[in-house]
Amino acid sequence: MTAVKPFSLAKSRRTIQWMVVIGTLVIGLRHIMPGEASRGGSFDSFCAFGGIETILPFLFTGHTLKSTNLLNFSVQLGTLGVSLVAGRAFCGWLCGLGAIQDFITQWTRKFIGEKRHIRGRQSTAIFPLRLPSILDHPLRYAKYLVLTVVLIASLFMAFPPLRDFCPVRAVFGLHMTALLWVTLAVFLAGSVLVERFWCKYLCPLGATLAIFNKLSPVRLVLDNHHCNGCGRCDIECSMGIADVPHHLDHPECVRCMECLNTCAVNGSLILIYEKEKK
Ligand code: SF4
Ligand code: SF4
Ligand code: SF4
Repeated sequence: MTAVKPFSLAKSRRTIQWMVVIGTLVIGLRHIMPGEASRGGSFDSFCAFGGIETILPFLFTGHTLKSTNLLNFSVQLGTLGVSLVAGRAFCGWLCGLGAIQDFITQWTRKFIGEKRHIRGRQSTAIFPLRLPSILDHPLRYAKYLVLTVVLIASLFMAFPPLRDFCPVRAVFGLHMTALLWVTLAVFLAGSVLVERFWCKYLCPLGATLAIFNKLSPVRLVLDNHHCNGCGRCDIECSMGIADVPHHLDHPECVRCMECLNTCAVNGSLILIYEKEKK
């Protein structure tokens, strides 16, 4: 077991998230330039979920769905590689949509009621809300339903089933349709109301990656001798995981490391690399 020293994780994560957002916007911009789409492939072919949307048709017919191609499988393999090593770190660090939701939460807190957020202290802003568990818990399963529907639908469709309602295309694609405008409005409103709304309830890629939190060697562990149960980590958890110190392998954890950054007692949470889990 090797302990990984926490350096300025929050700053590094924010920088990486901005780079991903700008990079994804460049892909979107390039796609709408005259003549560029045909050379660079469609915007959809860079999508990490596109590989999952087209896997069943590819296995059955040998062809990918329209607007996807073999590049989707490469992007998907890269995502799976990150997940095998570090669980859902893709969601916490490398997903443009996850980043946009984090920024929206930050800006919402700032503009609706809170001048400065003090880490580990309950936000005084009205939004984003934390839904009561009676609503929140069942809604978390909706993303698995979305994943199942998309996989089945992919066998009967010419284009990726999520394409017309995909928030990634709505935010970054720069090629809007009426349905994508509606998707964008729902996505923005949802993200203002509930932190990481799309990730928690609807994202089929998040549903696919959830299993990797149980397998990955890079993960957080708790040192019971240090933790004083102050609950600061629960307050900062963007995915709203209850009792974070005892649920560090939770399928909803996006490995953002905000709990580690916020923890008041040095050594309570430790980022480790451990090849074989006990
Ligand atoms: S759950 Fe989906 S939208 Fe959220 S960060 Fe993960 S892949 Fe991105
Ligand atoms: S448990 Fe920690 S690493 Fe996981 S989502 Fe919550 S704050 Fe981020
Ligand atoms: S892990 Fe840290 S922040 Fe969380 S309850 Fe324990 S001491 Fe508090």
